[in-house]
Amino acid sequence: MRSELLALRAGHVFDGVDVRRSGMVLVEDGVIRDVDFTGAAPPEHAAVTDFGPDGWLLPGLIDAHVHLCWDGTKDAVAHVASDDHEAVLETARASAATTLATGVTTVRDLGDRDYLALALREQVPPTERPDIVAAGPPITTHGGHCHFLGGEAEGADALRAAVRERAARGCDVVKVMVSGGMMTPGSDSMYQQYDRSDLRLITDEAHRLGLTAAAHVHAVPAIADVVDAGFDTIEHFSFLTPDGVDLRQDLVDEVVRRGTFVSATVGMMPGTTPSAPAVVARFAALADAVAKVIASGARVVPGTDSGISPGKPHGVYPYGLMQLAEWGMPNSDVLRCATTEAAKAVGRAGRKGVLLPSADADLLVLGSSPLDDISAVTDIRAVYRAGHRVR
Ligand SMILES: [Zn+2]
Repeated sequence: MRSELLALRAGHVFDGVDVRRSGMVLVEDGVIRDVDFTGAAPPEHAAVTDFGPDGWLLPGLIDAHVHLCWDGTKDAVAHVASDDHEAVLETARASAATTLATGVTTVRDLGDRDYLALALREQVPPTERPDIVAAGPPITTHGGHCHFLGGEAEGADALRAAVRERAARGCDVVKVMVSGGMMTPGSDSMYQQYDRSDLRLITDEAHRLGLTAAAHVHAVPAIADVVDAGFDTIEHFSFLTPDGVDLRQDLVDEVVRRGTFVSATVGMMPGTTPSAPAVVARFAALADAVAKVIASGARVVPGTDSGISPGKPHGVYPYGLMQLAEWGMPNSDVLRCATTEAAKAVGRAGRKGVLLPSADADLLVLGSSPLDDISAVTDIRAVYRAGHRVR
């Protein structure tokens, strides 16, 4: 049996690329049937919802970097490392529900434990969570960054096997911890965990199997190897040095030339400070680096790293968009990078982030203009996931 035909109307529509004055989106069986900007009357049998002249209808938003299994407390690492499967899965379920309520209808999970993001995708109905693009446990060295998630692999054979296991389990993307990181006791962000030939092997194997590849990287020499190895998205891209931040414009230019996505992990809850002292000490320099990356024309997409700390709980995404605007991205570009561009970055182009026939009916309705003020992304009137109104 077909589901009811919905006709959603609003005074303003952002279709993923352009802003239109008034429009109507027809939804049936979880997908967009048609989009009309001619002012046509709704079909007679449609159930009409009109969000009025001030309403803004747009595609559901996309977070390119989350950790659903992490609970966003100061003990997030201990919890995700030590809690039993049921408890971690419950954390992921709650994280997903919170995220969906903020209008984020697709997430890319770049680090679960024991493939629990895949379990969540199988066990929880689509209307209770965002769509999940999953990496499984990040590939890391023995005792390396986030080793407690279960993704340790070193050497050509083990790395190839790790990529194949992720493909076989149904992951969409391979996440590699190229630098050390700040969340893991004993790990050093300056330290490079894999060399250029390892990185090439991983990206080649991922691409051969139809997966994309995402690199966690902070240190400058490691960024050079990541760019060369052909990763699809670069996470953080922070150009850290032992005493500061050293943006290498030649590497930014190469990223622009290649069209590599930069998943800048943006967004902090108001009134909080970053949990890592290295970030606190470098915050102004990091903000300046992101501003320069944006100004250089790189394909920056919003990832948040939500879940890792109290400053980055699930639901922090709107503050990430505000931060991009604050750091020089025009509001219209913020909307594009949160929808069509992010959909391309996470491998869901055409299905997510656009209002076009046959795209998934994941939609967000705002009560005021995000073009005038990007904080309108918190002025939520409705959220639809797979054609169902969930808020
Ligand atoms: Zn992360």
